Amino acid sequence: MHNRDKDAQMPLGKEEARLLLHACCAPCSGAIIEALVKEGIRPAVFFSNSNIVPSSEYDLRRDECRRYCDKYGLDFIEDEYSHDDWRVIASGHENDPERGERCMQCFRFRLHRAARYAHRNGYNVLATTLASSRWKDLSQVNPAGEWACNLFPGLRWWPRNWRKGGLQQRRGEIIREQGFYNQNYCGCEFSLASSRAAGSSISCEIISPVNNDPEI
Ligand code: SF4
Repeated sequence: MHNRDKDAQMPLGKEEARLLLHACCAPCSGAIIEALVKEGIRPAVFFSNSNIVPSSEYDLRRDECRRYCDKYGLDFIEDEYSHDDWRVIASGHENDPERGERCMQCFRFRLHRAARYAHRNGYNVLATTLASSRWKDLSQVNPAGEWACNLFPGLRWWPRNWRKGGLQQRRGEIIREQGFYNQNYCGCEFSLASSRAAGSSISCEIISPVNNDPEI
């Protein structure tokens, strides 16, 4: 079997798998959750995003994500929010460009927390919605997920490319159908500053009148 085909399949069979899906926001999660449910897989959704500031923005993204999970009757788990801890891993990387080392550390921070929760609560497969946006670097997200899962025996990372199989198009459709709040910066204060500096010239998928693209 080709590696890409292998990665598209969950690393354990449906009978055996307990999937925890780390979710960064509703726009990135919508098509993935819909596809999983259609495939007969019902993940628990773990919202762990201490990167997001300000807290009002965090609340908005969390509530939108929970609203969509409620639609499918999926378990929604909110992790403890600790931006101070997140700032520790961003230290020294304040001026890094997006997709640079700060983002790598950010993925590792969030996916480590997700993997730890999975391990403590009987999940054996972990995936994330982080890689659904074309503004995210798969070559950062997947190694971060592999690294996090390898810290916990028995936990498997699912490196599926969530932009394939029509999911990229479906992503935009669901955003419009659901009227999701669709943020115009990735989440941290550094991405917010970059977004503000770029102003209306920011290169994004313009989806809603509110703003542009999530998780730039
Ligand atoms: S730009 Fe996004 S991925 Fe990168 S550090 Fe900030 S919040 Fe994390």
